[in-house]
Amino acid sequence: MRIKAVSINHPAVFTFVVSTFIVFAYNLSFWRGFTRAIGGFQLGNIPLLLATFVILALFFNAVLTLVAFRPLIKPVLVLLLCVTSLAAYFMDQYGTAIDAAMIQNVFETNTMEAFELLSWRMLLVFLLFGVLPSVFVWRARLEFLPLRQDLVGKLLIVAGSLVAVVMLLLLFYKSYASTFRGHRELRFFLTPVNYIQATNSFFKRKFSHPLVVAPLGKDAVKGALWDGQSRRTVTVIVLGETARAMNFSLNGYQRATNPQLSKQAGLINFTNVQSCGTATAVSVPCLFSALGRDNYTETAAKSQEGLLDVLSHAGFDVLWRNNNSGCKGACDRVEYEDWSKPVAGDPLCTSEECYDEHMLKGLPERIRSAKKDLVIVLHQKGSHGPAYWKRYPEAFKRFGPVCETNELQQCSSESIVAAYDNTILYTDHFVSKVINLLRKAGNDGGVDTSLIYFSDHGESLGESGMYLHGAPYMVSPVEQRHVPFMLWLSDSYRSRFRIEESCLLARSSQPFSHDNVFHSVLGMLNVSTTVYNPALDIFQPCSQGSAQDRLRTSSGRT
Ligand SMILES: [Zn+2]
Repeated sequence: MRIKAVSINHPAVFTFVVSTFIVFAYNLSFWRGFTRAIGGFQLGNIPLLLATFVILALFFNAVLTLVAFRPLIKPVLVLLLCVTSLAAYFMDQYGTAIDAAMIQNVFETNTMEAFELLSWRMLLVFLLFGVLPSVFVWRARLEFLPLRQDLVGKLLIVAGSLVAVVMLLLLFYKSYASTFRGHRELRFFLTPVNYIQATNSFFKRKFSHPLVVAPLGKDAVKGALWDGQSRRTVTVIVLGETARAMNFSLNGYQRATNPQLSKQAGLINFTNVQSCGTATAVSVPCLFSALGRDNYTETAAKSQEGLLDVLSHAGFDVLWRNNNSGCKGACDRVEYEDWSKPVAGDPLCTSEECYDEHMLKGLPERIRSAKKDLVIVLHQKGSHGPAYWKRYPEAFKRFGPVCETNELQQCSSESIVAAYDNTILYTDHFVSKVINLLRKAGNDGGVDTSLIYFSDHGESLGESGMYLHGAPYMVSPVEQRHVPFMLWLSDSYRSRFRIEESCLLARSSQPFSHDNVFHSVLGMLNVSTTVYNPALDIFQPCSQGSAQDRLRTSSGRT
């Protein structure tokens, strides 16, 4: 085969140069993780590092060669370079991996959350690593060979690249096998493969087939303890955001982040609760479903009714108040109110967003005027990062100095944690305020009230160089999975449903998870249905109500 001259204008050389650039310039997170996984940068590891570099460059080269045709190659490369520069920025900035759940976050994040991630540094990275190389690519004067010659040449390049890749993989098989088996997360750091793969699986799942929502717990009815009761019940589920258990002083944190909740009579704090996912888009639909973490998939959750539907079937009015980016399908068939949009002049809102207390507007009236038993979900903005300092009013800026930029690497870890701790302090105030409101409603309005609080997932605050959340569950750090979980029952509620406080207190350090939410809410409200699993009900051993229902079932009344 005749090749004119080896110049950058030759498409084969051009794609190889671009491939090498991609491996080198955009994969800092991958190289860092890989080097750590093989035991650090040392002389003996250099052959393995070089081989890995060559394997990746040749592999990318083989793929790019397939699209190296005149009308295609430049637009493809420009798009690839621009998007990859942004992906690399986020990975390096926040230490996050990119998987399907992360891509889902990107597509389902509201504009406000997206704006929060923008920064000058990001723009600079985009210009230097996205736009600038794109200009070079666009201006390249590629000299394509006649088609037949071009095709033969490409075939040889692709085949040659792949043979070399396989040979190198075999040569270093032992190292790769142990490294990638022990560090499966590494593939989520290799860009652009990670986001292309993740986007593909995200869309494949999203547009797979139209979903039919199967009914769940249509047989649900109120159990024996409801007989002869005239007082209404009000149950509030506070769904937290990004709150991690370890920063609650109720769980032993050294800072006093729970000054109000720690004084609430009747509060039971569960210290050992794990989340279903490490991101809102997974945890929220999972915990309101009957699936549990092992059986949870997004499709399964979307194609079946959940906890709030079962409560509706049992005759409750269900209301979801939102100060977050939506309920991810968990509230699709119940009443929904969005309180996240800023209201001009409202002291509980800034120009961009509203503090969580905004959701409590008119709530006592709503409780008073309700005709049926009521379940209310309050979906907090909570501790959503990286702009932690925006989540709480000035009065809660107790710990400091605080990091007031979303470019976390510009802040000391102390100032990041201080801002985060202020969000927990505000959540402490918020949940406590809801409890006070419920206590008052109980005293004034003759209703039996209760509250459950838990977070959807935790957060990394710099541990092992990681920030934010959304790590693949299997390799996720405990900071992203260990969530706060609390329960408050009014005296009248406790005696009505015959729940023993001391029994719950004795269980409060046992391991539980989001899997317990579905069955525990049904259990605490004494709802009887075939989809209820007493083994997952936290209340079951502590409630005489469940014993009553068993008696009733055996005597054939239900
Ligand atoms: Zn979340």
